[in-house]
Amino acid sequence: MKNDRIINNINEIPGLSPEKLAEIASAAEHYPFRTSWSFLQKAMNSPDPQNSAIWKQCIPSADELKEFPGFESEDGLGEDSCSPLPLLIHKYPDRALLLVTNRCPVYCRFCFRKRRWKNGEADRDITDDELNAICAYLKEHKEIREVLLSGGDPLMLSDSRLIFIISNLIKSGIETIRICSRIPSTMPDRISDKLMKTISAFGASIWFLTHFNHPDEFDCDSREACRKIIKNGIPILNQTVLLKGVNDDAELLAKLFRELVRTGVKPHYLFHADPVCGTGHFATGVAKGLELVKYFRENLSSLAVPVFALDLPEGGGKVPLQAEYYDSSNNSFKAIDGRTISHPASSIK
Ligand SMILES: *Cc1c(COP(=O)(O)O)cnc(C)c1O
Ligand code: SF4
Repeated sequence: MKNDRIINNINEIPGLSPEKLAEIASAAEHYPFRTSWSFLQKAMNSPDPQNSAIWKQCIPSADELKEFPGFESEDGLGEDSCSPLPLLIHKYPDRALLLVTNRCPVYCRFCFRKRRWKNGEADRDITDDELNAICAYLKEHKEIREVLLSGGDPLMLSDSRLIFIISNLIKSGIETIRICSRIPSTMPDRISDKLMKTISAFGASIWFLTHFNHPDEFDCDSREACRKIIKNGIPILNQTVLLKGVNDDAELLAKLFRELVRTGVKPHYLFHADPVCGTGHFATGVAKGLELVKYFRENLSSLAVPVFALDLPEGGGKVPLQAEYYDSSNNSFKAIDGRTISHPASSIK
């Protein structure tokens, strides 16, 4: 898919009725529209584009303007309160997250950082001054070993800017860098051998964190992008957001996770939706996620099973949610096939 480009004019969306166009226009006034041409093609290639999982992820809908109790906040995770410096989120002792840009090729309708790109806010990348201040903070806080590059999508930066940021982080004593990018899904041509080779040549450990939500996203071009990253020595983990009406189906997610594993990508997290304004219609509830977790445990290789997690408000962090297999009241276990079995050594103190 060469010559990918960004579309931000709703009149370029094919096949719209006047009513649908009006609905999209009113939603896009609050939360702007933007998609890559290649991501939109993934929707157009499906049998019923306007009801497809890809369409729901990238085309504005009237549901974004509805009110859902508990989904009033724009910063539902309290990230801004865990931010000692602009563009730095330091929530956990040994790792911190850097918002290197607010640009993305696709504005995902469920994005929990909508606050960073709504209001038609100008595209904005981290400045030298901001980066210098953050590097000084990292040098003072030796307990921070890992930095996540996030945003926005860090791969919206030029190669030279990205390399500059990574080398400055390494000079500040950072051991591990996690590049959190949806580009392998949203603009796979952006991944080049040259950039991946340069990044992997840094002494630090570099990990890539992709974001695929649906098997239709993981097409030939996306697979090829992932292969390029892995071939150059950078391991890939994937995160998936559980989205009502998009991917809240056990078989469908199992297919995605298996295909990721076949390409060498480890499903890492499955996130419950966050309580963020304009995204309430995507929330499934935790019970749904736990039902999926149980199905995965019984039917999928552990290589393919991600950790189901919920990011708590007020900066409470990500907590893993597990199906219960241990009953401490009588020291017994629920087996994968539903039997109750005890383990002779489990009660040793
Ligand atoms: C998710 C996240 C991390 C990384 O947490 P892990 O559990 O290691 O994946 C770090 N900082 C912030 C602010 C995060 O949201
Ligand atoms: S790519 Fe990530 S940061 Fe960008 S809009 Fe989508 S979910 Fe939000």
